[in-house]
Formats: sequence, structure tokens, C-alpha cells
Amino acid sequence: MANKGKVVGLIVVILIAVGFMIQRAMKSNKGGTVETYTQILVDVKANKVFAKPVKIGAEGPLEKVEFPASSPYSEGQNAYPAYQCSKCQTIFAMYAKPIAQGAAPNMTSGMASMPKCPSCGSAEFGMAKLPEGQTSMDVPGPVKIVETQ
Ligand SMILES: [Zn+2]
Repeated sequence: MANKGKVVGLIVVILIAVGFMIQRAMKSNKGGTVETYTQILVDVKANKVFAKPVKIGAEGPLEKVEFPASSPYSEGQNAYPAYQCSKCQTIFAMYAKPIAQGAAPNMTSGMASMPKCPSCGSAEFGMAKLPEGQTSMDVPGPVKIVETQ
């Protein structure tokens, strides 16, 4: 009788352990890998700044966003990453131009290619922000596009 009780006890312990391991495995699969990052974009046609959630996995964004990107506010590809000047508060778009294959590197434009605010020329700017709790806002247009390389 005592032996049988021990065996039953052992089976229960094993079942609990297996259940715990399965639960842990499921948790780590679900949690660790995917995160959502919000990218602030500006639609230069609709003059609208909006938040675009981008899912990021362990190896980087799960969907590749290429610019100009599509926007829910206008037809076509009119959305670029949105920046705001810290000096004059102008919101502008920044577009990193793909470097043309075989193009000679331009040695003289080192300083000139530094992105600057298209309105006041300040190099102090950051990602545009949306007001708390809002996912889009109108901006006075036309929104200028600063091209960088
Ligand atoms: Zn400025």
C-alpha cells in the first residue's frame, strides 16, 4: 500500500513538472520575440503626421518599410519619416536616397549633405512627436522633403 502511494505521488510530481515546462516553453515563444515599435511618418501630400506601428522580431522589423511608403491619408506613396526642428518647430520629411550603383562618392559634399531644417537651417531636430493619445495630426503644408544620402 505504501509503495503504491509513492508511485502515484511520483507520477503527480512528473505531471506537474511537465506541465510547468510546457507552460514555460509557450510563454517564451509568445513573449520574447515580437515587439511593436511606432514609427512617426508624415504624408507630404495630405499634410498629415501619423503613427505607423511596425512589428519587430528578434532579427529586426518583420515587415520592411521602404520610403516613400503608402499612407492611409492619400493615394500612392507619399509617406516619409517625420522630423521636427527643435528651433522653429517646423515638421519636415526626411528621405534617405538610395545610393546609385556605380556613382562616384562625392568628397566635397561632406558638410553640405548634413541634414538641416529646410526652414531655418538648424541641424538640431528630432523625430516628430504626436500629442498624447493621438495617432495623427494635421500639419501646415507644404511639407518639405530633406534628402540625405
Ligand atoms: Zn528650423
